[in-house]
Formats: sequence, C-alpha cells, structure tokens
Amino acid sequence: MLSRVEPLAPLRLALTDAYGSVVAEDVLATHDLPEFASSAMDGFAVRASDVAGATPSEPRELKIVGRALIGHEPEGTVGAGETIRIATGAPIPAGADAVVPIENAVVEGNELVQLLDGPAPGTHIRPRGEDVHEGDVLVPGGRRLGAPELGLLANSGHPTPLVHPRPRVVVLSTGDELVPPTESPGFGQVRDANSFMIFGALREMGAMPVMAGIVRDDVESLRETIFSFEIQADAFISSGGVSVGERDVVKAAFFRRGDVDFYKVAMQPGMPQGFGHVEGKPYFGLPGNPVSVFVSLEVFVRPAMLKMMGRRHLFRPEVTARLTEDVRGPRGKLQFARVEVRRDPGGWSATPTGARGSNLISTVARANGLAMIPAGTDVAPAGSSVQVMLFRSSED
Ligand code: AMP
Ligand code: MG
Repeated sequence: MLSRVEPLAPLRLALTDAYGSVVAEDVLATHDLPEFASSAMDGFAVRASDVAGATPSEPRELKIVGRALIGHEPEGTVGAGETIRIATGAPIPAGADAVVPIENAVVEGNELVQLLDGPAPGTHIRPRGEDVHEGDVLVPGGRRLGAPELGLLANSGHPTPLVHPRPRVVVLSTGDELVPPTESPGFGQVRDANSFMIFGALREMGAMPVMAGIVRDDVESLRETIFSFEIQADAFISSGGVSVGERDVVKAAFFRRGDVDFYKVAMQPGMPQGFGHVEGKPYFGLPGNPVSVFVSLEVFVRPAMLKMMGRRHLFRPEVTARLTEDVRGPRGKLQFARVEVRRDPGGWSATPTGARGSNLISTVARANGLAMIPAGTDVAPAGSSVQVMLFRSSED
C-alpha cells in the first residue's frame, strides 16, 4: 500500500494553514535575523572609547544629542563626547558601539549625563544576524511545522511556505442497518460508529475528514456518493461491505471500475480489506466491525496517510512489554490484541482489555496499545514478552 501512495503535490499555504504540515524544500533565510543591531538595555548608546575607565568615583560626562526609540530610526548619530538615550530593543545609532545601562548613569538636566561605567565595545548590544545569517537553512525540507517553526518563519518573512497539504479524505459508512448517532435505532438498527472513529483518527493524523455520511448497501448509491465527492477528495475511506457476504457493496461497486482489489489479510481483527485507486485517488475499503476499523486505521491507513503528508516517520512507537495474562492467538493470523500498557518499576506491562475475537468497541476505548501476537502462537502466556504499538501517549 505504501508503494502505491505518494506525497500530495506541494503548495504554498499561509502559516496558520501550513501548521502541522511538512515543508517540501529547505527554507532559507533571505535576511539576517535580527535585521538590525539593537540595545539589550535601557540606557545610553556610547562610543566605548569615550567612557573607557569610567567608575562611580571617576565618571565620564557626555552630551545627550538625541533619543533612540524602538521601532524608529535613531535621532542622529553618536560623535566623540556624545551619547543618545536608548530604549531596550531600539536600533543602535551610527557611531555607538556599546550601551551603558541607566543604573550606571546620572543625568544632569536635559543635556548632560555622567556615566559611571566603561563597558567594552559590544556590551549590551544585540548584534545584527546574531540569530540567523542570510542564506542559513531556517527549516530543512521534510521537517514538520510546529510552533517554533511557525514563529521562525513569521519572524524571518516567510508567510507562505511550500508544504505538502493535508489530504482531504471523504469518509462514509455503508450499511442498511446504520442510523446516525443522533437518531434512536429501530429494532435491528445500529448507530454509525465508524464514521466518527475514522474522523477522529484522520484529525489526529493531521488529515482533513469530509463526512459523507451513511450510504445504503446499494451499488448505485455508493458510486454516486463517491463520485459526487470526487472533486474535493484526495482519498476515500469507506467501512463495511468488503466481506464475502452477498451485501459486499464496496466490492460490487468498485472491483472492476476503479482498480480496487480485495484481500484477505492474515490478521485479526481486520482480515477483509479493499484497497486501490478510484479516479486516481487512494480508496481504503475497511471492514465493518468497529474494532476491525480501528486496527485497520492504525495498521494501514495511518502510515499511508502520513506518507501522503510527506511525513518521514510513518509508524507508531513500539515497546516490548510483559503480558500480565494469557492471550490466545488465532493461530494462522497475526493478532492485534488491545492492551493497556503501563510502565512499571520492572519495565513495561500489557494487560488485555478484552477477550480474543471480541468485537467490542469499548475494548479499544480502554486500551492504549495493540499487542502483536505472531501467527502460529496458540497461547502467549502471562509473563511472556510481546511487541506493542502505542497509539496514545501516556498523558492522554
Ligand atoms: P459488514 O462488513 O458491512 O458486514 O459489517 C460487519 C459488522 O460491522 C456488522 O455487524 C455491522 O452492523 C457492523 N458495522 C458496519 N458498519 C458499521 C458502522 N458504521 N458502525 C457500527 N457498526 C458497523
Ligand atoms: Mg455492511
């Protein structure tokens, strides 16, 4: 699947839209940062040579010839025997090469000041280019834009970086039995869980879900819905209708038309899967059972979606944990067992939140990891070590 999805073509986005996206090229500094030398203190801009050796008992007297305010050109320049009052952050006036803080100054009237200290050249001056030099790499291509990067790009005059955009993913649920969660189900009806789970997973990945709702188990309705959303979609995700039952509507709708293939993957849950392209856009045909949907999102959709966003690290972190209970495996399939992982003094432990083959969505909601029990395992006994994918951080 990963070899059949590609990062979305980069485009320039405003910083607030680009947040969380991956930059598609090195972003270079076009200016020094800061762009001008400024004062780090409130005080007096001086020529260091004019005040060399000054002490409280042997001050130097200088003539105040103007002010340097923040956000403005300084009033005048500093000549021999002269000084300019300066505020923190104000540009250093020409001629000055040091700042004497206000605490070391005694002002006499409006014109004269006694300076009690003789700082070395450069003292209390923030030099131009101290942070970044023109031509430096501000953000390397492939880096995801987080808070510090947004600040840096804004500060250095890059309001529209070139990024891989967030995929817009059309999400729909198939099933004659489904009703929206706002309605009370009639007998035999089921509230649609999958659209919302997929929505949350996509948001968490950084993609943009487009909710297309519930579609009946009818080939024409499904096709119509998919094609009506096609223009705004970068990918599609449906749930249900991919098993081998007579109502396998996704298969009937897209198997021939859209280069979508259907697979039995040797895993539990999540065995029936459809994947391919519809109108050139990735189509993920997930199974119907909500637990299978969750596992499919983690195992298949998330890495593919991250690749579409240009991300480099596609997989969840894993830990090796000790099982606190026996876990029965389905023998011929890799099992993804929902577990609660904890960091104990002795290392990581993993406690199953539901029995094998349980189709219960609450077992996912109580878990923070998927323990991978390899195919061929009859029982993974309590105390044995398993690899666990962590799907939420411990503080969540
Ligand atoms: P299917 O693969 O379409 O036969 O669905 C398998 C099982 O998952 C059935 O019991 C469905 O009722 C259930 N199911 C399918 N879609 C959803 C959904 N969107 N929300 C909750 N349960 C669903
Ligand atoms: Mg169905």
